[in-house]
Amino acid sequence: MNQFRRAGLALALALSFGAAGAQSFSDADLAVAAKLREAGQASNLAYELVDSLVTEVGARPAGSANDKKAVDWAVAKLKSLGFPVVRAEPVPLKAWKRGEAHAHITEPFAQPLVMTALGMSVATPKEGISAEIAYYPDFATLKADTSDKAKGRIVFVDQKTERAKDGRGYGPSSTARTQGPTEAGKRGALAFAIRSVGTDHDRLAHTGATRYAEGVPAVPAFAVSVPDADTIARLQRYGKPVKMHVSLQAELGIDAVSHNVIAEIPGTDLADEVIAIGGHLDSWDLGQGAIDDGAGVAITAAAAKLILDSGAKPRRTIRVVMFANEENGLDGARAYAEKYKGQKHQLVAESDFGAGPIYRFQTRVRPEALGVALVIAEQLKPLGVEAGGNEGRTGADTGVIQRAANLPVFSFSQDGTDYFDFHHTANDTLDKIDPAKIRQNVQVWATAVWLAAQSPVAFHPLPAVEKKPAQ
Ligand SMILES: [Zn+2]
Repeated sequence: MNQFRRAGLALALALSFGAAGAQSFSDADLAVAAKLREAGQASNLAYELVDSLVTEVGARPAGSANDKKAVDWAVAKLKSLGFPVVRAEPVPLKAWKRGEAHAHITEPFAQPLVMTALGMSVATPKEGISAEIAYYPDFATLKADTSDKAKGRIVFVDQKTERAKDGRGYGPSSTARTQGPTEAGKRGALAFAIRSVGTDHDRLAHTGATRYAEGVPAVPAFAVSVPDADTIARLQRYGKPVKMHVSLQAELGIDAVSHNVIAEIPGTDLADEVIAIGGHLDSWDLGQGAIDDGAGVAITAAAAKLILDSGAKPRRTIRVVMFANEENGLDGARAYAEKYKGQKHQLVAESDFGAGPIYRFQTRVRPEALGVALVIAEQLKPLGVEAGGNEGRTGADTGVIQRAANLPVFSFSQDGTDYFDFHHTANDTLDKIDPAKIRQNVQVWATAVWLAAQSPVAFHPLPAVEKKPAQ
């Protein structure tokens, strides 16, 4: 029995004792929820917002000129939508700038590789690096290697990404991407290469952030496309040494300022309690940032706009946040967590998994609010969303904020079966978004956010988290 079902029994019990008045929603609030579902079905706003962002701004890596343009776009757009409060809050950051990069196999025969630098990678010397490949079938094998195999070589980690509806394949392979260069550097490697963190078979490389542990030599880091990784793996099987040449230019540590862009619908009697929802405004430079994360900022802004247009006044403040620099440092989330650490949050929730339909709703609320969570889950059922319990986890940006203050969470699982086909590639373009599916997202968000704003019960404070022993 999941937690929502248990809560449902508790609710039924409370009803039978006539004690549910304080635990449920007014008929008027439920009527607004029904109206929002209906209005969402007729609204194309989220799709139009992504269209406008990727067509009028384009790709927007943090700290770039286009990132500034995106901030201006967001402020103007949110104002034109009629939000009563719109502001941009400065986020200082160290930007990374991609330069020209190429790589090819030199032995046993010449073969160009489709590759891309990983975010935050250091550059190679101008003349590049030529060396034999040290092949590892996965990241665990590299971490376990105590030999000197990697020394003076280009480490290649052939970590595969499993396709899954809930995107669980991304965890292990993104860990390989972020920690791989450090493990290679520790072992005296000259460079680090990885199979693209992706589920496609396109000859396109997937970028994504990496980082270096302090005190370890920083080696240039890049990803090759999945078919190129397959070629390297096959060459390896034939038993001949494989040599590679790579040249990768990049600039690091560029002082820049971006902004979190915020729109609010101020609450009425509970205005000091905030429902913070959003996605990230920045994107990688290779594609258009349509699914990552034009979709997320558009879905959450469009949901708030539906509530605004309903004419109903939320009790709690609804805050839409378009975060700065999620991709290459989470600076926007950190700035938000610092600025609003003293503020009561009814919940935080993030949309950063493309525009696939939502199939599951989870929460992380205090036990006293489980009855209310159940009613909200019931209200999402007509949209094809199942109730998933009270162990909800949240995204990268709101995760930073959630952990800083142990905040309640709403979590909407999207079908991301094809998300990692396009994620962080040149293929992240508007055509990957289905207008009907992004509409369903807006309906779900508007309904849930509205009811959270009207809840007769606060979702906070959460019980203190037990400290897990360090691993
Ligand atoms: Zn993202």
